[in-house]
Amino acid sequence: MQQKRQRKILVIDDSQANLILLRAHLNSMGLVALMADNALDGITIAVEQRPDVILLDVMMPQIDGFEACRRLKADVRTSSIPIIFVSAKDQAEDKISGLKLGAIDYVTKPFNKGELQARIGIVLQMMELQERLLLLANTDELTSLANRRHFFQILDRELLQAKIRGGSVAVMMFDVDHFKNINDTFGHLAGDKILQQVGKILSENIYPMDMAARYGGEEFIVLMPGMPVEIATQRAQKLISHIDKNNWDVNGKPISVTCSAGVAAFDGADSTDPYELIRRADDALYAAKNRGRNCVVPYNMLKPQEIQHTHQNGDFIELQSKISSLAQQIREQTLGIISAFTKAIIVKDPYLASHIDNVKAYSFEIASKMEVSQQLIDQLQTSATLHDLGKIIIPNNILHKTTPLSDEEMRIVQRHPIASAEILAPIGMFSQEIVIIRHHHENFDGTGYPNGLIGKNIPIGSRILAVANVFDAITSSKPWNLNPRSGEETMKEIESLAGSQFDPQVVYAFRKAYDENQDAWPLSQKRMEMPAAAN
Ligand code: GH3
Ligand code: MG
Ligand code: MG
Repeated sequence: MQQKRQRKILVIDDSQANLILLRAHLNSMGLVALMADNALDGITIAVEQRPDVILLDVMMPQIDGFEACRRLKADVRTSSIPIIFVSAKDQAEDKISGLKLGAIDYVTKPFNKGELQARIGIVLQMMELQERLLLLANTDELTSLANRRHFFQILDRELLQAKIRGGSVAVMMFDVDHFKNINDTFGHLAGDKILQQVGKILSENIYPMDMAARYGGEEFIVLMPGMPVEIATQRAQKLISHIDKNNWDVNGKPISVTCSAGVAAFDGADSTDPYELIRRADDALYAAKNRGRNCVVPYNMLKPQEIQHTHQNGDFIELQSKISSLAQQIREQTLGIISAFTKAIIVKDPYLASHIDNVKAYSFEIASKMEVSQQLIDQLQTSATLHDLGKIIIPNNILHKTTPLSDEEMRIVQRHPIASAEILAPIGMFSQEIVIIRHHHENFDGTGYPNGLIGKNIPIGSRILAVANVFDAITSSKPWNLNPRSGEETMKEIESLAGSQFDPQVVYAFRKAYDENQDAWPLSQKRMEMPAAAN
C-alpha cells in the first residue's frame, strides 16, 4: 500500500489575521499550510511547491484574487490545482464570477470554521478518488505493473525528452516461452501466478529510472530512458537469466519457465515514433523465439532475413509454408532411410536395435511429463533414433568389454556422440538433433563428455535423452551382461544421481512417468517376457 502523503494547502490572503486563523484551522485538520500575503508571491509558491489546494482571497492590492485565479488556470504547471475562494465579497454575481474562472468552491467571510473544514475535506476526498482512479487506469490488475496505456504515455514523454536533450531511449520486450503449454497443463490460475511472478522479477531487478509494464497477455516491456542498446541488451540478458534461474513450481512440482526478449533503442537523433520503436523490439523478440527461445536479440544485430516479419505478404507466407511442408517430407524420408541403415549396421547387436525403440519411448514419456513443446518432442524422437549411430566407430571388443577400459579405449568410447554428429552433419538436416545427440553424455555437474557442459547449458533435449539412455542401458540384458537390474532399483539409482549426473527436473519427470508405467517398464525386460509381441 502507498503511504498516505501529507496534503499541502496554500493560503493567499493580504490580511495577516486571516493567514494566522486559516493556518490554525488547517493544522488542526492535519494539513500543511503554505502562506502568501500577496497574489504574486502566491503564484510563485504555487509553481514551486505544487500545493494540493489553494485558498484564495479576492480583494487584495495590486493583483486581486480573480486575476490570480486566471493566471493560475492559464499555467499548465498550476492549472489542475483546485482553488477555493475565501472572500468577504458575498454577492451571488461575485460567486458566479469566481466559479466561472475555474474555482471549485466559494466560501464567504466571515467563515464558519466547521463549514470551511468540511468544504476543504470534500475537495481533498475528490482528489483522492481521482488519484485512485488514475492509478487504476494506469495499472495492470493482475501484475500491478503499469499497463500498456500508461507505458505509451511515458514512452511518448521520454522520446520527446531524448529528442530535445539528446541521449537514447531503449525498450526491451519480453514474452514468456511456451506459456500456452503452462496454461493448458496447470490451468489458467497457475498461469496467472506465473505472470505475477515474472512481473515481480522484472520490477525488482530494474533500475529506479526504468519502468516495467505488462504489454498484454504474457508479454512484458521495460522502458530504459537514456540507455544505449548494448547496455540494455546486457540488462535484458540478466533479467531473462533471473527468470530462468528462479525456482518455479506449481503446487510444489518444479517446472521450468523462461522468457525470450527483443531489445531496440532510439538515439535522440532518430525518430520519435513510439510504434516504430516497439515494432523493432517486437521483430527482435520474434527472432529470439526463432533462435530457440530463452535468449535476447537486439534489433541492430538482426540478420536481413529476420527483419520485418510483420510485413510479409500473403504470397510470401504461402510459399514459405509450401516449402516448409516439402522440407518436412524430405526430412521424414531421409530419417526413414537412415534408421533402416542404422538397424542394418547393428543387426549383429540385438541390444542396440531394441535400445533405440526403448530410448524413444522413455524420452517421449519424460518430455510429455515436462510439458515441453511438440517441436522438442519430435526432435527427441529423431535424436533417440540417431543417437548411437556413432557407435559404429567403437570396435566390438571395446563395446562389449566387461573389465575396466584403458584410457585409449575410453577415449574411443567417448568420441561416439561426436561421431554421431559428424555422420549426420553433411546431410544438412537435423541441426537441432545433432546438438542434442552431441551432448547426450554431458553430466549435469559438468563432469560429462564431450564438452563438460554444466546444468542448463546442456540442451534440454540432451538432458532428457541422457536419463532415457541410461535407464535402458542398465535395465537391458546384453550378451556381455546377462544380469540387468530391476526397474525400481535403476530408478532409485538414477534418483540418487539427480544433480550430479542428471538434471533433477528431468529425473523428477521420469519418476512420474515410471510410476505410471510400472506394469510395462522396463521395456527391455517386458519385451523379453513377450517375444511374440516384440516389434
Ligand atoms: P511462444 O514461446 O512462441 O511465445 O509460445 P506461447 O505458448 O507462449 O505463445 P502463444 O501466443 O501461443 O500463447 C500465449 C498464451 O498466453 C495464450 C493465452 O491463453 C495465454 N494468456 C494470455 N494472457 C493470459 C493471462 O492473463 N493469464 C493466463 N493464465 N494466460 C494468459
Ligand atoms: Mg505472446
Ligand atoms: Mg509466449
